[in-house]
Amino acid sequence: MSVTVRFAPSPTGYLHIGNARTALLNWLFARRHGGRFILRLDDTDTERSRPEFADAIVEDLAWLGIVPDLIVRQSERRDIHDAAADRLRGLDRLYPCYETPEELERRRKRQLARHQPPVYDRAARSLTDADRAAFEAEGRQPHWRFLLEDRAVTWDDLCRGAQHYAAGSLSDPVLIRGDGSYLYTLPSVADDADLGVTHVIRGEDHVTNTAVQIEIFEALGATPPVFAHHNLLVAAGGEGLSKRTGALSLRSLRADGYEPMAVASLAVLIGSSESVQPVASLDALAGIVALDKLSRAPATFDPAELVGLNHRLVTDLPYDAVAGRLDEMGIGGGEAFWLAVRPNLDKVSDALDWWRRVEGPVAAPITGEDRAFLETAAGLLPADPWPDDVYASWVGAVKRETGRSGKALFRPLRLALTGVEHGPELKAMLPLIGREKAILRLTGKG
Ligand code: GLU
Repeated sequence: MSVTVRFAPSPTGYLHIGNARTALLNWLFARRHGGRFILRLDDTDTERSRPEFADAIVEDLAWLGIVPDLIVRQSERRDIHDAAADRLRGLDRLYPCYETPEELERRRKRQLARHQPPVYDRAARSLTDADRAAFEAEGRQPHWRFLLEDRAVTWDDLCRGAQHYAAGSLSDPVLIRGDGSYLYTLPSVADDADLGVTHVIRGEDHVTNTAVQIEIFEALGATPPVFAHHNLLVAAGGEGLSKRTGALSLRSLRADGYEPMAVASLAVLIGSSESVQPVASLDALAGIVALDKLSRAPATFDPAELVGLNHRLVTDLPYDAVAGRLDEMGIGGGEAFWLAVRPNLDKVSDALDWWRRVEGPVAAPITGEDRAFLETAAGLLPADPWPDDVYASWVGAVKRETGRSGKALFRPLRLALTGVEHGPELKAMLPLIGREKAILRLTGKG
């Protein structure tokens, strides 16, 4: 059977880098196995789900390079969820309960006081038709619990290895609320079964749902998918990431000028046995990332690491990859400018500052003896058109004429020409600045 994976965010906020980790691990796995990637929007929580967040998810995934083969919305699949619930009812695996939260809490406390595990006691299983009718006459609507089998559930997790859960030690989970709405558990299984999902790759915060979900798959007559629960990504202070806070959202990283491949590389390589490195394409990343290389401990996101990765990636970007963006920023100078400045950039957008320094005007704090030195240097600039090695021949002449060398030679030249003490090689900058502007700057006229 060919591989089918799904990424199933709820559209209740913008995707953050931790969501990107899950999405990418799915996408890269599908890539590696020639499989399909489904985006399932878990939008059954009508109060918190928003269409604009759903659109943003599609857009942010596309920015990362993920284009789903299929997009489905759970809100449009109610029939499938209802059919699954009916099937479970027919098998007597879904039963109505009428306890109020207060009643359940009282019972739980009593169990704890007696040193018993606080597991739902299945009292509702012994209700008669008359009891149920009486509750409903009181206006109570039932919530529905799934009857777990008293057995061990095992699975071979692609991240965590062999897993073993004694489902008998869990409470029968509520699948349908009193108002008739579904909790996440059943629709997720019904959709995975219906869409032929072969691998469920998700964060380890879902590991506790898995034994129950495996039982539901089996009760529905479906083969459970293979599961992989990856370690979570946490912020530097150790706190988890949340869609609701907007922290480290893909949007904000994009607005801050990070390259999608820097974000993608970091999102999947931290917390793994692979070294964190900038990888140029998702295809290349698919060859490196493997679920069994992820570590078990949470992965800590360090913003400084993202800056470093972005810098390394930008330093290697060919002109073709950025020409359109440079153009949009009003940056000229073509390939020569790009090759000159890229080693000095953390972000592509930093190129704008260097372009302004090429275009001028440039204000340089030149004082004292340097004034006369620079006047001399200006007089030694060769006539147009300049040869390719104009910088070397000019600096050679300035050195001979003034007797200066080292810092005393280069610092004032750089400062006068670019306005700052450090930056791209002057050899590459001088031809971009051109003779006319160079003379003005060296003579203190702009
Ligand atoms: N909507 C769920 C979530 O965002 C999906 C979990 C799953 O992948 O099964 O946590």
